[in-house]
Amino acid sequence: MSGQCVFCRIIRGEIPSEKVYEDERALAFLDIHPSTPGHTLVIPKTHVSRIEDLSEEDASALFRVLHRLVGRIQSAVGAPASTIGINNGQESGQEVPHIHIHVIPRSRSDRGGIIQGIARPQRHIGREELSQIAERIREHTADLS
Ligand code: AMP
Ligand code: ZN
Repeated sequence: MSGQCVFCRIIRGEIPSEKVYEDERALAFLDIHPSTPGHTLVIPKTHVSRIEDLSEEDASALFRVLHRLVGRIQSAVGAPASTIGINNGQESGQEVPHIHIHVIPRSRSDRGGIIQGIARPQRHIGREELSQIAERIREHTADLS
């Protein structure tokens, strides 16, 4: 928990929110400035800024809650689909430094875009560069297996 963090304050009930789900590790509540009706934020109760700072236990718990909630949120607001995303770090546009998963119910009529459209490529990335990037990432993930 962090004293001034707005989402920690929501967890503690110090500021009002429209909570839709809560368990020992996670909380879900409506975004105060929804992109579409039903726009929900799913957060861990542990205060960390970014997904890579979560413990594996909290990461699993968070994804389990997300998995259980998404279809139910869509049903509740009559949306056939949703976009799910995390602004992970300030440079990605994250404003609240307590990790949160946005669940944004979607329909064909909402005039929105797709996740791949959030950044514009500065240049073409060809097959050779793809291979180099993949190799670099494999080097950084070698410790996982
Ligand atoms: P971001 O950090 O950019 O991923 O987005 C933070 C989100 O938190 C925004 O969509 C805000 O509308 C939302 N938000 C900020 N304060 C509150 C609050 N008190 N209750 C609910 N949602 C909030
Ligand atoms: Zn917090």
